Amino acid sequence: MPLVTTTEMFKKAYDGGYAIGAFNVNNMEIVQGITEAARELHSPVILQASAGARKYAQAAYLKHLVEAAVEATNDEIPIALHLDHGADFDICKDCIDNGFTSVMIDGSSRPYEENIEVSKQVADYAHEHGVVVEAELGTLAGIEDDVNVAAETAQYTDPDQVVDFVNRTGVDSLAIAIGTSHGAYKFKPGTQPHIRLDILADIVEKLPGFPIVLHGSSSVPQEHVKTINEYGGALQGAIGIPEDQLREAAKSAVCKINIDSDLRLAMTAGVREHLTKYPSHFDPRQYLSDGRNNVKVLVRDKIINVLGSENKA
Ligand SMILES: [Zn+2]
Repeated sequence: MPLVTTTEMFKKAYDGGYAIGAFNVNNMEIVQGITEAARELHSPVILQASAGARKYAQAAYLKHLVEAAVEATNDEIPIALHLDHGADFDICKDCIDNGFTSVMIDGSSRPYEENIEVSKQVADYAHEHGVVVEAELGTLAGIEDDVNVAAETAQYTDPDQVVDFVNRTGVDSLAIAIGTSHGAYKFKPGTQPHIRLDILADIVEKLPGFPIVLHGSSSVPQEHVKTINEYGGALQGAIGIPEDQLREAAKSAVCKINIDSDLRLAMTAGVREHLTKYPSHFDPRQYLSDGRNNVKVLVRDKIINVLGSENKA
């Protein structure tokens, strides 16, 4: 099958009480690590590119890397190509016109009415072209590429706004802010990060059957932080969202869980360990293989223990 939209994936995920992993891709090894894991576990998967990824790798490379993944997995699993955090109509349109099957318009930092206006504009254009749209209501704290929100300005999604927002924009899924946060330094050391499952429950009650998306859902695996620090890195106080809370969210209306920082940590841990253990190596294939393998192991773990999407392809 060619690239698919998330419509069918989300419907099955909602009914089946699991979520689809949306993994950020930036280079070939990351695309390969993710899709090899998804293929082995027969899991549907979303590969997503941020504006930062497009800047780094160029849009054409990303698109063809993802198309290569579709070809290499022999059409055994559904794969969607999604734009992460589209800042305005133009970047969304560019992706819609160039083969993406799903885009996110992130108007969450704009006033409510402006967020509705731009989200509707993107949804109208996308639907004319067979592409689906994710929008965001509420503001997540943290840093992710071009998105940088201080903890003080972050705001939980207001359950009283969700029906109006979805009806007036026509979007296909909704990213909400319920305590997750972007980046590896989401929370101060010593704090107990937790997802507001009570707000999620309120939203689900108002929007029954509607797919919900969680951003900022990396768990910051401590074994990778430890490896990075053991082999010359300096990551202080990086902590994330406990995986059991994400699993709970995945059992309800959350159909898409975004994972980016954990991939970066896994890749970096593999490369750092390799280069320190084998100081004479200078062939990128040697150390990138270890990074890629770490990505694959991490994605396997997410699919089995967090998302529950194993054997759902
Ligand atoms: Zn995000």
